[in-house]
Amino acid sequence: MRKAEWTDRQHLPLDVPKNLASKTYFCGKKGSSKRMRHAAARAAACVREVAEPRAVRRLVRVVPGYPYCFLDDLRFPVRSRLISGVLSQCETAVVCAVTLGEQLDDVLRDPSLSAYDQWVFDQVATAAVEAVMDELEAEIITGLQRGPSGAARALTARYSPGYCDWPLTEQRLMFALLRPEKIGLTLSESYLMQPQKSVTAVMGIGDAAMVAKYGIACRRCDRPRCPFRRCAYDPHWSPARD
Ligand code: SF4
Repeated sequence: MRKAEWTDRQHLPLDVPKNLASKTYFCGKKGSSKRMRHAAARAAACVREVAEPRAVRRLVRVVPGYPYCFLDDLRFPVRSRLISGVLSQCETAVVCAVTLGEQLDDVLRDPSLSAYDQWVFDQVATAAVEAVMDELEAEIITGLQRGPSGAARALTARYSPGYCDWPLTEQRLMFALLRPEKIGLTLSESYLMQPQKSVTAVMGIGDAAMVAKYGIACRRCDRPRCPFRRCAYDPHWSPARD
């Protein structure tokens, strides 16, 4: 068995943040109404009460490759050129999954909620699962050890199947690596996760200077109108370009 800095963990001490309503994208934005803010505050209080955040994470080796790198071993290709380009700069990666639990799904499906309240509730619950993943990421960053040469290490940006050029069907890879059934997370035939408010993600771990330079796939992606872009496209550094 390979040595890892840590092994799979269940029931990590994660919590839904207190300022959840303000993390919802429409709150605090120009145009958000008083009604919207009140509905978000109500939904946030309910999500904090009902959600049962659970997480599992695993440290895996990155096997560089072109056009795809592999996680753990050659059975697990990352079928995304953009994300493989980022991970290939790293020696290891952390694969993780977070879920807020089934009870929250029951509340989201509550037929007594108006369509408006259901929509707000859904937005707040989505913000909650991302906030819990942020918390897990912060915990991983805190625990990062220095590399063999003593150089500081850092995490690349976080990527999930269904984003950039990584097909949603690749949730299969995340499930094969994580076996998240142990935290109650399952995958349907159409690659949707149950409970509904769950996310999986991979982040590379590498030399901090390298991560600062190449740790974001947007640098090598020339899609002009992507709403998720985090940094400018760099046409001079794109070795995996078709
Ligand atoms: S610009 Fe958009 S699609 Fe391209 S890598 Fe960045 S987030 Fe992904």
